[in-house]
Parts: sequence; C-alpha cells; structure tokens
Amino acid sequence: MADKPHMNLAVIGHVDHGKSTLVGRLLFETENVPEHVIEQYREEAEEKGKSGFEFAYVMDSLDEERERGVTIDIAHQEFDTDEYYFTIIDAPGHRDFVKNMITGASQADNAVLVVDVGDGVQPQTKEHVFLAKTLGIDELIIAINKMDTVDYDESDYNQTIEEVKELLKQVQFNTDDTTFIPVSAFEGDNVAEPSDNTDWYDGPTLLKALNNLAEPSEPTDLPLRLPIQDVYSISGIGTVPVGRIETGEMEPGDNVTFQPSDVGGECKTIEMHHEEVDYAGPGDNVGFNVRGVGQDDIRRGDVCGPAENPPTVAESFQAQIVVMQHPSVITAGYTPVFHAHTAQVACTIESIDQKLDPSSGDVEEENPDYIQAGDAAVVTVRPQKPLSIEPASEIPQLGSFAIRDMGQTIAAGKVLTVDER
Ligand code: GDP
Repeated sequence: MADKPHMNLAVIGHVDHGKSTLVGRLLFETENVPEHVIEQYREEAEEKGKSGFEFAYVMDSLDEERERGVTIDIAHQEFDTDEYYFTIIDAPGHRDFVKNMITGASQADNAVLVVDVGDGVQPQTKEHVFLAKTLGIDELIIAINKMDTVDYDESDYNQTIEEVKELLKQVQFNTDDTTFIPVSAFEGDNVAEPSDNTDWYDGPTLLKALNNLAEPSEPTDLPLRLPIQDVYSISGIGTVPVGRIETGEMEPGDNVTFQPSDVGGECKTIEMHHEEVDYAGPGDNVGFNVRGVGQDDIRRGDVCGPAENPPTVAESFQAQIVVMQHPSVITAGYTPVFHAHTAQVACTIESIDQKLDPSSGDVEEENPDYIQAGDAAVVTVRPQKPLSIEPASEIPQLGSFAIRDMGQTIAAGKVLTVDER
C-alpha cells in the first residue's frame, strides 16, 4: 500500500446531494470499512427508520449529528484503490472547506463533484466548481447521484449533465475530458461495479475513474517551501520548527532561511515520525533544527526556504479573487484577514483593478467601484504585516489564499504577481 502514489481528493457539491453517502460507499466498496461496522450502522439506521443511510453513518463520528441524521464529517477519511492511496480532504459545507483547502495540511489534487440528478445545478454546486478552478484543480469527476430516484432514466441523466456542462464551460473547465458517471451512492450503482440498471451507460465506474486520474506530480523541482505550523523548544535539541514541505527538498547541512522573520542558518537535523532522516520531500511533515535560530526568532506563518532562493516577502501583490459571500459590497480600503498557507495576516485591498466575467475570464470593467458576491476580480493587496507569498504561476502551492471576515470565508484567490519588499 505504501508504494502507491498518494492523492488528496475533495468531494464537492451542494448540500444533501449525497457527498457523505458516496464517500461511505467508496470506503465500503474498497473494503476500507469492516463489514461488522457497516452491519452495526445498518441496524442502527433501520431502528431509526432511516435504512439505507448507513453509508453516510460510516462518516458520522458525532452521535448528536447521527441523531439528527444530517451532517457527516467526511474529512480526512482514507481509502486505497488499485492505483492510489486516497485521502478525502474536508468537503465544503461540513467544515470550513475553503480555508482548510488553502491553509490545512492538504490541498486537493482532484475533486469529485456530486450532483443530485433530480436537483441539478444548485448554488453550492456553482460555488464549489468556481472554487475548485480558482484553487487550481484541473480535472473533475462528475458523479450524477441518486439515479435510483429517477428509475435510472437516461434522459434525466442527460438533462442534468447538460446543466453541469454549461456550468463547467462558464468556469472554463475543459468538458471534453470530464468524466460523467450515473451513480446511486445509496444502492451502489456504478460506484465499484458497473450497474445493470444503466445499460445505456458504457463509461467507467467511479472507482475506475479514480484509478484513471493522472498521477499528481511531486513538486521536487521547485525550491523548498516549508510553511511553519508551530515552533517548539525541546530540551537536548533546542528550537524545533515543524511544518509540511509543500515544494522542494531538504537535507541536513542545507543552508536555510525563514521569511519574513529573516533569520536562518544550517539545518542540523530533520525528524519525521520521531525518527531522524537524511532527506525530506513534498508532503512530508517534518520537525527540524537550525543552527543559531531560537524559539523567539521565528513563528507560525514563516516560510522556510533555501538561503540562495529565499521565500518571497510581499510589499504588495496583485491577485485574482472570486467573491463567495459578503453581506454588502467590497470596495477599496477593505481590510479582512488573509489566510495563506499557515499565515494569517490582515491585508488591505488597495484597489479593485478589474472586474472579470467569470464565464470567460474577460475583463468586464476596469477599476470598478465595488465588487460583490459572485464576482471575480483582479485586486491589488497590501499586507499590514510582512507576508511570505508566491505567484501561483511559479509556486502554486504557496500562491493561493482565503479571505476571511466575520467568521466566514468571503473569497478565495490566487496570486498573480508580487511586488517584493
Ligand atoms: P451531503 O450533504 O452531500 O453529504 O449528502 P448526504 O450524503 O448526507 O445525503 C443526503 C441525503 O440523500 C441522505 O438522506 C441520503 O440518504 C440521501 N442519498 C444520498 N445518496 C443517495 C442516492 O444515491 N439515492 C437516494 N435515493 N438517496 C441518496
């Protein structure tokens, strides 16, 4: 299992379209849930008159939520297929998906979009597809779910995929190589086994489509970028910053720097899973020790990189954003908190440079007075404190952010250019 490549998968879609049920079904079909656990859930669900809901139950770790029969925590479930070792990352709606997608330990490599065949494209379907694109997901697998509710009717399926295709075109996903699959998460049709109920469909099952995904490339050819999550002081070793390597590689003896704190030195030791290692690469969670760097010299939100190619610190930057929700309008001068990798920094939107047509990416208006929910725009941003961030075209892993205000994710964006300090 360990030698299969790893893939982070986001499962997105409108609330109640069946994301949790589908993930439960996938775990079950790939034998990542013991039969007796499923059996237990099945009995419990039947007792409560919710038979068939047991797959959603698999993901439900909270009794109270189980009682209500709604929210399922599908975050960080894992399963493996013939080709890959998958981690499901936070799904939107259940937790703060956008924030976690950007600042959490996992960025999605690919996504499965779940659309209820009877309900079609809904507001969150749009929002999530927008986000997936903004955050750099290029390939979507579309599961048209609840086919059992329409008697596996081909024309209902076709009608729904036309709606979805329309949306994908708007957001500039290439629909030619998008895989659409008619499924019933509930009944298991076309999840692991081709279904007899859909003899008009000759495409892959969901599991096959997952296996067919292109392997994510390991960004070892990019410079080291290691956002710091925490800084510990450990007796006998000294200061130990910890974090996940987003790009590049690291070895003891490397000369590293922390930005924006602007300190550095020679990396003495690297630890992974409590063992000393002589190499660490993308995706590795490491603790390490750097000669001459004390606990108070660095902090969460710093990025560690090679001394000869240090992380970029922005005086200001230009970014493309998608506004997801805002009670009123956003104008120049707005100063919410930007969450980028492990950093949280108040930043002022200094100017709104262009409003974009979300369907084509074309400029709709130069220097608009305001933007609001649903708009895409190019903005110039000035961090109120030093912030290390990179152009998404150069280091995508360090080039996206979420904008938060009033306890909500207001917008998501990617960095176009950086004006360095
Ligand atoms: P989520 O909010 O997208 O995670 O949706 P859930 O997985 O919680 O499912 C919402 C509701 O739809 C639940 O009552 C499920 O039992 C039901 N559901 C999910 N998938 C199917 C399906 O394939 N067929 C039918 N009939 N119901 C389904």
